[in-house]
Amino acid sequence: MALSAVQALQLTLVVVSLVFAGACFLGWRLFERPRHALIWSGAFLLAAIQYGLNLTRDLFPSYEWWWVLVSVVSCLLVVTAALGHRVRLGLPTPARLLAAVVLVVALLQILFTVLLKRDDVRVALGPGLACVAFLHIAWVLLRHGPQPRLAQRVAAGVHLLFGLAQGLATGIALQFGIEAPAALRDTYNLVNFALMPTFFVAMGVTVIFLLATDLSNRLRLQAITDQLTQVSNRRGFLIAADLLMSSARRYKRPLAVVLADIDFFKRINDRYGHAVGDRALAHFTQILRECVRSEDAIGRIGGEEFAVMMGDSSAKDAGRMVARVRQTLLDRPLLERGQMIVITASFGIAEFHIEDDKEDLLLRADQALYDAKASGRDTVRVAGNRHLVGMVSHG
Ligand code: GH3
Ligand code: MG
Ligand code: MG
Repeated sequence: MALSAVQALQLTLVVVSLVFAGACFLGWRLFERPRHALIWSGAFLLAAIQYGLNLTRDLFPSYEWWWVLVSVVSCLLVVTAALGHRVRLGLPTPARLLAAVVLVVALLQILFTVLLKRDDVRVALGPGLACVAFLHIAWVLLRHGPQPRLAQRVAAGVHLLFGLAQGLATGIALQFGIEAPAALRDTYNLVNFALMPTFFVAMGVTVIFLLATDLSNRLRLQAITDQLTQVSNRRGFLIAADLLMSSARRYKRPLAVVLADIDFFKRINDRYGHAVGDRALAHFTQILRECVRSEDAIGRIGGEEFAVMMGDSSAKDAGRMVARVRQTLLDRPLLERGQMIVITASFGIAEFHIEDDKEDLLLRADQALYDAKASGRDTVRVAGNRHLVGMVSHG
């Protein structure tokens, strides 16, 4: 059986769609099973079915009903692709609306293909819907997500071009009238067979790239996040501290760092067990989080040792923050098996000097923390400032 050029292209697209479906499925299996990867895998499977139906048109007794079937599959495919993007970006997914779109397209196809036999509307419906769906995808990719990074911008660009090409195809199809003239049909086929496969492949590649960059971003974040408390680990804190310090240096703004070390933490572990110790760490972190501003950097820089760096803040501001933390620790002891465990901590505060590097600043805060521990714990010391010590100390 000899294949025509168009059939060869359709066959290639079946295989390419299956490859993309497989890649998305692998992405789902390997990358912590993100739901959108599975949805996209389904969308590419639908694409394979759609191209497969194009290849096997002659096997169907009725051209019109074959057309309705292909149109419904293609509608399902674009709706599923858009659904995958919305799920990935955490946007609402109106399932009823999407099901209604597929149903309406199916009914319109039956009306215009089988009953009214209008070439313009029946051909324009598919690319018209694809145009809306791909422009919608481009829009949400640019508008949502954790600040559109390169992969997301490229994906948006490809979907935009794909959407515009579908819009062009829709425009040509609408000129068809009741029965399409040969010349117009040729122009339509040119757009459909020359432009669409290229965009389709580009779209598949960008979708795989999105999965890969999401994974790499997640791994990068995991590498600088403390798993128990979900604040930065030492490495993450030092990176954030670098940024805050260079901004303080550049704009000549004050900056303060606070080191906190939970008092007698070993006793909590020894008395109540390691699991309660872990919950005490999470409890302490939660309180710390509530008492700092969102722009401050918090890190768990040791077992039961935490650091907060506060931009645009003096040692006095840091002292106020520490006072809030200590008050909240008193007000909200950890409740374990009906027992109240009061957690206290010692704090060392240091203020940034323009000539400081990170090590100088942290060393001064560490010395202040050491002083706080040496003077009996549950207290605060400010590096090189006795006056402030009295003001913020409870102990
Ligand atoms: P101090 O008042 O001098 O700070 O005494 P401390 O007992 O808090 O300090 P020490 O450094 O002697 O003990 C810290 C303990 O923290 C020892 C270690 O087993 C425990 N620890 C470190 N990381 C974790 C953790 O992730 N979970 C739990 N439950 N304990 C931890
Ligand atoms: Mg301790
Ligand atoms: Mg310690």
